[in-house]
Amino acid sequence: MTDKPKKKERPPRQAMPEQDPKVRAKNFDEVPYGYDEKLATLEASRCLQCKKPKCVEGCPVEVDIPAFIRLIAEGDYIGAARKIKETNSLPAICGRVCPQEEQCEIQCVLGKKGDPVAIGRLERFAADYERNQGKVEAPPLPAQTGKKVAVVGSGPSGLTVAGELAKMGHDVTIFEAFHKAGGVLVYGIPEFRLPKAIVQAEVDYLKQLGVKVELNAIIGRIMTIEELLSDEGYDACYVATGAGTPKFLGIPGENLGGVYSANEYLTRSNLMKAYRFPESDTPIIKSKNAAVVGGGNVAMDSARTALRLGADNVYIVYRRSREEAPARAEEVHHAEEEGVQFKFLSNPIELLGDDAGRVCGMKCIQMELGEPQEDSKGRMRRYPIPIDGSDFVIDVDTVIVAVGSNANPLISQTTPDMEFNQWGYIATQDDAGATSKNGVYAGGDIVTGEATVISAMGAGRQAAMAIDAYLKAGA
Ligand code: FAD
Ligand code: SF4
Repeated sequence: MTDKPKKKERPPRQAMPEQDPKVRAKNFDEVPYGYDEKLATLEASRCLQCKKPKCVEGCPVEVDIPAFIRLIAEGDYIGAARKIKETNSLPAICGRVCPQEEQCEIQCVLGKKGDPVAIGRLERFAADYERNQGKVEAPPLPAQTGKKVAVVGSGPSGLTVAGELAKMGHDVTIFEAFHKAGGVLVYGIPEFRLPKAIVQAEVDYLKQLGVKVELNAIIGRIMTIEELLSDEGYDACYVATGAGTPKFLGIPGENLGGVYSANEYLTRSNLMKAYRFPESDTPIIKSKNAAVVGGGNVAMDSARTALRLGADNVYIVYRRSREEAPARAEEVHHAEEEGVQFKFLSNPIELLGDDAGRVCGMKCIQMELGEPQEDSKGRMRRYPIPIDGSDFVIDVDTVIVAVGSNANPLISQTTPDMEFNQWGYIATQDDAGATSKNGVYAGGDIVTGEATVISAMGAGRQAAMAIDAYLKAGA
């Protein structure tokens, strides 16, 4: 009797090499090194090439995942990058910051009995390979349509809409309030998670497509949206100004010295390069003990930045438990490995100051989770309840508040004929982002509230198609 042929063994999910936690906690270099060709090809060989790929259903921009993975498995890395770019214009960024574990990878059939294919890592590999080989090429552009489009804001949504519209032959100008383009990708997400050079490469690519970028240009101050359309000759406008106004805790002591919003803290460090002060113009506090309030990605980024800026102790103070923390599991894991200390089920109730008006303590109360209740979106959630008499104080000289953000009111104040919802976000009439003002579209965080890079990009893609149709209809 002959033995049955053995089933080919599938290799395990390939880990991505990364900097040692003790070393990286003191530098701003990127944490993971990324796959090399060998690891990428091996990981790609795990894909089953499903006929009805579930992974694609989980991708907000419907990347043809099995097709690009097959190209990597065959060694055609440039082809893989181009396949992804058919629907995702920023793969090097998405491969680094997208929550793949909740989107494509959670749907991967291999995840049912083991580890899903590392789709995000493969996406990053293909995009990096193309860029590092100098093989990023602008596609042939159609004849110019003569139509002008203004894009307000250069985050992932604005960058996406600009690229798509330029590829359709329109004349696109991005207006950006800051002195650098990229939105949260440059001022929020730190260098050790998303190197700025990668974002800059994407902006340079848009310029190759003919997109113009006006920096230090705050719409609502230098001119209004109405003026863009009526005086400056733009035929349409896309508003992607994000949700960058920080929320605060509303507790006593929040005005003390040493208390920052995460937005200010991260902007100082990332965009203004405060960690290179005095070589850069902007200083940042030197902390000994820093507490970050919140449990999302912004809180993890702030805590890991505080460590790199030299703090001895960095605490994450979060009123719910670890399971409820909205940050990506990978970010919590990285923060923990680097030495961030977590105080779950703890809620700050007062910030204490010294005689000089600087924060010196954070008074917290211990919380417990109540019975599950339905929230306004119909989800069952357990709400934290304070435990009487459980107050405690943490010694701190820095507090960073990372509990969410709101829309900036400048556009709503200067565009009276456009509809906004009760929270100040732009009200859109359909998924393509049409607003109540003719010729004006909007998308990304300024419509949805704080969301993700990929959802902001998805909105930009859909709006580009709608704006193109609007312009072709004779705007
Ligand atoms: P933004 O990226 O906010 O860009 C808006 C741009 O508009 C900014 O550059 C702003 O300066 C400009 N602007 C504002 N007003 C004006 C004006 N009046 N005139 C001209 N320009 C203006 N998402 C993920 O998917 N994964 C992550 O890991 C992740 N981590 C994050 C970490 C941090 C610290 C933060 C803050 C967010 C994170 N997010 C993450 C969320 C994600 O970055 C956002 O959802 C996304 O950037 C929204 O894109 P956007 O284009 O709508 O706006
Ligand atoms: Fe490959 Fe998983 Fe997608 Fe199937 S679901 S095609 S195995 S990545």
